Amino acid sequence: ANAHAEELEAKPAFLSDGTRIEVMINIASPADIKGCSPEICDGIGLVRTEFLFEPGHPLPNEESQYAAYMAIAAWASGRPVTFRTLDAGGDKPVLGLTDASESNPFLGLRGLRLSLARPEAFRVQLRALTRAAVHHDIRIMLPMVTVPSEFAEASALLDAVVAGLVREGTACRRPPLGMMVEVPAAALGALRFAADFYSIGSNDLTQYTMAAARDISTVAALHDASNPAVLELMGRTVGAGRVRKVPVSICGDAAADMRLVPQLLGLGLTSLSVPPAFVGRVKAAIESFANV
Ligand code: PEP
Ligand code: MG
Repeated sequence: ANAHAEELEAKPAFLSDGTRIEVMINIASPADIKGCSPEICDGIGLVRTEFLFEPGHPLPNEESQYAAYMAIAAWASGRPVTFRTLDAGGDKPVLGLTDASESNPFLGLRGLRLSLARPEAFRVQLRALTRAAVHHDIRIMLPMVTVPSEFAEASALLDAVVAGLVREGTACRRPPLGMMVEVPAAALGALRFAADFYSIGSNDLTQYTMAAARDISTVAALHDASNPAVLELMGRTVGAGRVRKVPVSICGDAAADMRLVPQLLGLGLTSLSVPPAFVGRVKAAIESFANV
């Protein structure tokens, strides 16, 4: 079975009815793609940009962010690359940005909430991304979006960043702007967001739906992405994508869980983003789903 998965790694994945299933990769640093061929994937479905914001270091400037985004996108050789804006807070504290005194950081000022509260830092990241987007098929994704007004505020900020760069005479492009669906309110209300695409974050969506933290082992059994309530929220997101005619993907750990892949395909998902080491196995699971 392992040899078969290895053989499938370099090939595109299809269901038996001919439906193409995109298999993208998740990365959390450039080291994750070192020695890895872009041929194994249809692109990078999630770049967690937190690696740039190292503990104890000053916030990264625009040039260092631009260089990092360009290098990752160049590796993809024309394939799409989805950069998630800084998802600080909760399980990902960032010195100088997150507030260590919050009583419950998972329900606090994290992800997009924090970026909107610190627009001076957010603007630097958006400038670097819109400049890199001139050269590569880059998409921007917002984490922890809860209500449509947050998305609208981020979208307006992106417009302002692009307008500022144009005024300066700096080359830039406004790429598609999408959102993680990882808060139950966002999954239930997905239709109301002006997102260009959705990506289901099953790790946080499960945590917030089941009220069981992703990092507390004593409640690990409750942190179950296959619970019908979580699957229903994923299904609603797929439905919202169909109605709004925008792509829906999943980039949480559930996409790399062989027991869950058939259920995700059954929900109508046609794009899965997984750690590079799981690509072959996920493609094998897609192929065997096609054979039932
Ligand atoms: C998720 O929440 O499922 C996700 C993909 O993002 P992260 O694990 O970085 O929170
Ligand atoms: Mg998340």
